[in-house]
Amino acid sequence: MARRADISNRRFDVVVAGGGIAGFTLALALKSALGGRLSVALCDPALAAPARITRRAYAIAAAPRRMYETLGVWDAIAETAEPIRDMIITDSRTEDPVRPVFLTFLGDADASPFAHMVETDRLTAAVREAALAAGVVPFASPVRRRETDPDGTRVRLQDGTEVTGSLVAACDGAKSRLRDLAGIPMIGWDYGQSGIVATIGHERPHEGRAEEHFMPSGPFAILPLTGDRSSIVWTERTDRVPMVLSLDDDEILAEIEKRFGLHLGRLTLLDRPTAHPLSLKVARRFTADRLALVGDAAHVMHPIAGQGLNYGLRDVAALAEAVTDAASLGLDVGSAEVLETYERARRPDTIGMAVVTDTLNRLFSNDLLPVRLIRDLGLGLVDRMPFLKRRFIREAAGSEGLPRLMQGLPL
Ligand SMILES: Cc1cc2nc3c(=O)[nH]c(=O)nc-3n(C[C@H](O)[C@H](O)[C@H](O)COP(=O)(O)OP(=O)(O)OC[C@H]3O[C@@H](n4cnc5c(N)ncnc54)[C@H](O)[C@@H]3O)c2cc1C
Repeated sequence: MARRADISNRRFDVVVAGGGIAGFTLALALKSALGGRLSVALCDPALAAPARITRRAYAIAAAPRRMYETLGVWDAIAETAEPIRDMIITDSRTEDPVRPVFLTFLGDADASPFAHMVETDRLTAAVREAALAAGVVPFASPVRRRETDPDGTRVRLQDGTEVTGSLVAACDGAKSRLRDLAGIPMIGWDYGQSGIVATIGHERPHEGRAEEHFMPSGPFAILPLTGDRSSIVWTERTDRVPMVLSLDDDEILAEIEKRFGLHLGRLTLLDRPTAHPLSLKVARRFTADRLALVGDAAHVMHPIAGQGLNYGLRDVAALAEAVTDAASLGLDVGSAEVLETYERARRPDTIGMAVVTDTLNRLFSNDLLPVRLIRDLGLGLVDRMPFLKRRFIREAAGSEGLPRLMQGLPL
């Protein structure tokens, strides 16, 4: 049986570093499965401040949605989550008067949607509230150092507090301090592209349709939100971003219109765009002594397929399963066996998706005529092959080879 918490000595079974969506979801999954039999601490300097308002939205695939249903938090966000019922893909330039649709993924009225657009602030608040209510112990300070001995691992926080655990889960994002302290290198590259994100209002309803227009500078995605609103992710060369962000609201809206089109009527800009540099980075290992890397701490990928957080949530489900299985048998939750199970479950799967997103971005972020002809032929062929489209939808929904939580089963 796992050890009990001794908060005065600050000794826990699992210490989660980082309270983004991945960190709080992991902490919640562990407490939901084992309750008082497993003690969980979570440290993040952001806990000292009121929750940050980002106004962003992510596509959450069907499998993580099932996990949130199982963990009992989906109800808190369902009302503001917009189902993606179908999707069209075009290969176009801003000056093209019409955009031939090369590929469609039509929704099946009887089936559940393959993804939902979820407002990030809602999801973050829901998992944070549920995790704290389940007994996760918060520390509002960042990790500075970590030392490991055969019995456990000791984390020193910036405010001088020491927290000890059998396992540390590094959910501290793309610039993970714990990953650096463990000497784990990231393999990958920057794309020289940024994702410009904004919320757009429109006159006509989107009917739950997502659109991805492949432009020479990269994909321009239109993703349906509740009400007559959509979230856009406009991939642009990073050297052009300062110019784009310096435009006033009318000018930027005119640029967005050229890419968005007017099929949904007049557009309005509902918030100022923000830009996020894009890269591909995968950690050489996902584990070290009593340490597991989770979410962006382990991998960062291009948002072309909207899979970054979805893959982070697969990490969460896999690690929660390995830890719960060990704890139920009374075994050490930070043992080499638990970490090996996690590494085997997650790294090859992540590398597979990293290759897919990288290839798609290289193939579609250019304007070379021969490449355009080949990719358009490829898209047209896929469009005529229903079995292949079903396979893509299953993959995007995350329906295969999944940990229990993602199948909608309890741990
Ligand atoms: C333009 C764009 C669009 C995207 N769209 C999608 C999408 O549609 N679907 C999708 O699945 N993904 C998408 N992603 C990816 C998604 O944004 C990330 O994968 C996700 O936010 C990562 O979550 P995380 O919890 O792993 O890390 P983060 O959200 O980065 O959280 C890390 C946390 O760790 C804390 N922290 C940092 N340092 C320390 C420390 N030393 N000690 C303790 N705590 C620390 C931070 O305060 C923070 O709270 C997109 C990304 C971009 C750039």
